[in-house]
Amino acid sequence: MYLKTKAIITKIRDFSENDLLLELFTLESGKVTVIAKGAKNAKSRISGAANLFVYGEFDLYMGKKWNRINSLEIIESFYPLREDIEKLSYGSYFLELTNASIVKNKSDQELFALLLKTLDALKSADPLMLKIVFEFKLMESIGFIPRVFECAKCSSPLEKNIGFNIEYGGCLCHRCNNPKSMNISIKILKILQYFANNDFYDIMEIDIHITFLKKIDIILFKYLSYYLEKNNFKSLKFLNLFKED
Ligand SMILES: [Zn+2]
Repeated sequence: MYLKTKAIITKIRDFSENDLLLELFTLESGKVTVIAKGAKNAKSRISGAANLFVYGEFDLYMGKKWNRINSLEIIESFYPLREDIEKLSYGSYFLELTNASIVKNKSDQELFALLLKTLDALKSADPLMLKIVFEFKLMESIGFIPRVFECAKCSSPLEKNIGFNIEYGGCLCHRCNNPKSMNISIKILKILQYFANNDFYDIMEIDIHITFLKKIDIILFKYLSYYLEKNNFKSLKFLNLFKED
């Protein structure tokens, strides 16, 4: 069986002396693992194209045991993301997070579009801002948007002493708030509500103070780790080195 689809290369592993194993996020069929034959041979046509972030039109042969690439036409190589260590680290995290959210044989066009927009914005946008927007919109697209407009337990309005509670999936009012919540200010609440109400590009237009960015970064990471059941992101270990200074 053959599959012609747009896809983004999200992970690259060694397979054999000459071949690489690629994880693809395909537009048509979600997560697909393919062999890139001869990709380690500098002379092969595919070696220049088999790079992380590469977005292209793929012709795939889908075998019973293995899938392989017949041909690949690059649409966007995202070369600048591989040339800058900080962009590479953030970009790798976006791919890792995507890989934790997609499955085989299930297309997710909204997340596909979000990842493309995010990789494109990473060329020039503030990476921490981009990280929290991507995390929020990714959770939204896979059906885990946090509840930020009313209490996640009793549905009362959120007025004062608001808590963000992971297990309840969002904000708790002052009556329902409990010690397991992270307390958040009205300002943080308004930012989260803005994220929920607006699209990617509108959110990326606003300026958010670094203090708020850091706080939201912590909240959203705890939130997504809990719902994706994953907190050991390899790319983050490297990113945390940048945070030290
Ligand atoms: Zn409540």
